[in-house]
Amino acid sequence: MPHTAHHPVQLLPTVSIVEQTMRQARRAVGMALAGAALMTVLLLTERLWSSRALEAAAERHAVANRLTGEVRLADQQVKQAAQMAVITGDRKWAERYDKLLPELQQSIEHASLLAPPEVAKRYREKTFAAGLELAGMQESALRALAGDTPTAAKAIFDSERYQLQSDLLRSATEELTASTLAATENEVRLLQSRSYGIASGMLVIILGTGLMLWRRLSSGLNRSRSSLLDAEVRIQRLAASDLLTGLDNRAALHDAMHTAMSRARRSGGDLAVLMVDLDRFKPVNDRHGHMVGDLVLKEVARRLGRCLRQSDLRARYGGDEFVIVVEEQEGPGTALQAAERIVERLTEPMRFGDLLVNIGASVGIARFPADGDDDDQLLRKADSALYRAKQSGRGGVCLYDAALDDALAERDALEQGLRVGIAAGELVPFYQPIVDLERRSVRSLELLCRWRHPQQGLLTPDKFIAVAEDSGLIGPLTLSLLRQACKDLAMFPRHWRLSINVAPQQIQNENLVSQLLAVLNEFGVPPARLDVELTESALVSDTACAREVILALKQAGMTVTLDDFGTGYSSLAYLAEMTFDKIKIDRSFVRTLHQRPESAKIVDAVVGLSRSLGVETVAEGVETEADAAKLRALGVNLAQGYLFGRPAAARDIFEFNRQREAALHWAEAV
Ligand code: C2E
Ligand code: CA
Ligand code: CA
Repeated sequence: MPHTAHHPVQLLPTVSIVEQTMRQARRAVGMALAGAALMTVLLLTERLWSSRALEAAAERHAVANRLTGEVRLADQQVKQAAQMAVITGDRKWAERYDKLLPELQQSIEHASLLAPPEVAKRYREKTFAAGLELAGMQESALRALAGDTPTAAKAIFDSERYQLQSDLLRSATEELTASTLAATENEVRLLQSRSYGIASGMLVIILGTGLMLWRRLSSGLNRSRSSLLDAEVRIQRLAASDLLTGLDNRAALHDAMHTAMSRARRSGGDLAVLMVDLDRFKPVNDRHGHMVGDLVLKEVARRLGRCLRQSDLRARYGGDEFVIVVEEQEGPGTALQAAERIVERLTEPMRFGDLLVNIGASVGIARFPADGDDDDQLLRKADSALYRAKQSGRGGVCLYDAALDDALAERDALEQGLRVGIAAGELVPFYQPIVDLERRSVRSLELLCRWRHPQQGLLTPDKFIAVAEDSGLIGPLTLSLLRQACKDLAMFPRHWRLSINVAPQQIQNENLVSQLLAVLNEFGVPPARLDVELTESALVSDTACAREVILALKQAGMTVTLDDFGTGYSSLAYLAEMTFDKIKIDRSFVRTLHQRPESAKIVDAVVGLSRSLGVETVAEGVETEADAAKLRALGVNLAQGYLFGRPAAARDIFEFNRQREAALHWAEAV
């Protein structure tokens, strides 16, 4: 993963929505409680007040009732006393009459106090004259009775005038008491109904306020609910998208792929999964920082959006990896076109202010349902196509192919086997002599690696060296071989040197020289006995690095040979610049020495240059005496090839040398 940046995540409004809702609810409940308390107080006061008023009214009504009865009784008694006085002529009745009359008047007075003022007033107006006249007539009648002239008294009482006036008085009194009664009754009824009115009014107010509060609260709650729903949608969207680019993230990609695949299954359509990996993103990120890296990723997302259809799925899959899913309407052409468009758009320079950034992209494509029918499988296959695309150079586009997958799996298995094999000591050194062409004596042994594979037998480097170089296993492999070789060296004459091969990748390892020295030191082998072969391609890929390594090796006391000379590019320029000890002319020139006149010319030129630089020349792949003779004639002084000995295990070399020396001794002796 090139980098992970921290981006501020926007605080979601959920918490504040919940808090706001709680505040609203709390306020509503508070208002309801306060309202209820106020209403209770009002209701209680009203109840108290109206019950007092009712009580008073009811009492007045009772008094009126009693007075009505009293008036009626007193009136009858007065009437009765007057009649009895006239009939019996007994003074006793007259006295009784005299006594009852003021009582009656007092009751009437009482009743008129209770009566509504206008009724009392009307009563007084109506009865004033009649009352006076009656009082006069009664006075005269009583006087007659006292003077023993009851007939005169009887005549007064029986007189039409007396009857008329007393009837008037009576009916007025009746009216007064009746209306007093009615008035007090009315008052009670009024008070009662007013109390009901107030109570029901308050009830209405309570209900109304409650309803209003409830409606406010529920509309607040509804608003909160919809805000929460919004927030939820936003959270879901955030959870499904990559924060930096806004594209789908991995999880959302898988979901969307499931949906797209089931839709394609129903419609019988095809899908293509494009795995896009940025080229040169890491150096941009390293050189200009993550801020610029982020800007680049955002710009990539924007460009992807512009060169694809709206319906195409776009996701950020990893640091600088993106996945696109497109529907294929006209076969694989659609996906290939899309991939090429993507590469083209992403290769266009990006400008951020003054900064100009150049990246690129490679794309691997896997197809549904042809290459797989589940998302993981498709992504894996798109990734393996991407790997191929990257291998074939930057800006590559590659369709998944099962054969590629097999090759990849095989390569993975090989890498794994190699890892285990190195640790298990299955990788062993073979040696091939490098001889002096004139004297035919061994100058050095070139260490050539062999793998004693437990199942496949003895494997030559062409089967595994490339994988070792790509996977970073070449370093450990070299050190393991050198260790074994240092032990083997004990079998050979001291003046035999050891040549080892160092791969281009290894010169980037800044510890290379010290690691080699450590092994030599461990076995007491002087560094001067070691010759390091570097290929021309190592020089080309990183000239500065190569120059430093060569210098360091020589400073450590080792010699350096330029291997495979003539297969690289600007060979002669490097030759002059870097101080090699030996130049090894590539096998291809030796092989064609007799067929192609140019080969001999090149060898001739190299020998000439080497002489002027004070460098030795080695010819490799020498198989025949004719080759050896020709090379010697051209001035090559060292050679290596089947003519002098095939690569072999240390023991075989030792044996061969012993026999050869014995033969030499024998020849000398003869
Ligand atoms: P190289 O360094 O050019 O090694 C010489 C190759 O030529 C060897 O192949 C050797 O067996 C072969 N050869 C020698 N004489 C003749 C001949 O007369 N005729 C023909 N046709 N071939 C001849 P080998 O052992 O298969 O190694 C192949 C390559 O693998 C080497 O090429 C070298 O580049 C690489 N290699 C081998 N061992 C190592 C190692 O330990 N480390 C690294 N980095 N590379 C190694
Ligand atoms: Ca070599
Ligand atoms: Ca070679």
